[in-house]
Amino acid sequence: MNERDLADCLIHVAMQGEAQPMINALGLRHNGSLERAYPAQLWIGAAHAKSIALVTHGIDPTHQCDRLGTETAMLVAHLGIHRIKPRLLINAGTCGGFKSQGGAIGDVYLPTRFLFHDHRMPLPKFEGYAMGEITIADRPELRSAIGAKPGTCSTGSSLDATPDELAFFHRESVTCKDMEAASVANAARDSATQFIAVKVVTDIVEHREVVADEFLRNFARATAQLAMAVDRLLRTSIL
Ligand code: SAH
Repeated sequence: MNERDLADCLIHVAMQGEAQPMINALGLRHNGSLERAYPAQLWIGAAHAKSIALVTHGIDPTHQCDRLGTETAMLVAHLGIHRIKPRLLINAGTCGGFKSQGGAIGDVYLPTRFLFHDHRMPLPKFEGYAMGEITIADRPELRSAIGAKPGTCSTGSSLDATPDELAFFHRESVTCKDMEAASVANAARDSATQFIAVKVVTDIVEHREVVADEFLRNFARATAQLAMAVDRLLRTSIL
């Protein structure tokens, strides 16, 4: 391990496009792969009197797209925590929002509860284990610093949603649907690392519109807002 890589704060971002406005805003520099021969990429720097590292999932060598999703999220979080040894891990990204919960495109959330909505193990004990609920303390001072709402973020392996999953979201009052946060929260908990997630809404889950169209149309605006929210968070006494 290289001592120079250690940072106060590790920002975990799935997509390169989500990360770029943040990398620019914080003035981070590329530091190669997170781990030799592995696609995840590392950026390092300092801002607002904190040393900062940022990891992205990288590009899949077979399919030439961002390596989104829960499997990569868990592995990148684990590798990042062990290389960077952060005092705080921040998962920053876009999410689906819910009109029925008061959500709108561009809303910023600091969720306090994380679940998996597509892990089903209908057996005693395993049912709760599969849903994987993790709660973290609400930080109202951080929410007001960045104009964020509290909520529940549910993670799964698909961009679209099945009717059963829509019922799950309603039952659990889910405000953010994504493909990484609960995995990163699990990695943080297992390594006793302080964790928060910042999510910005790119699409409305209950909408009839094709999710990919809505996502792509709102992506630039949402990621600019995400970069501003993370920059403002790092200006606070978050650590
Ligand atoms: N069509 C996009 C695919 C990425 S969308 C592209 O190729 O550019 C999925 C990413 O955005 C995931 O990392 C996820 O965390 C987040 N996300 C945004 N809206 C989502 C939604 N409605 N459901 C699940 N994940 C969503």
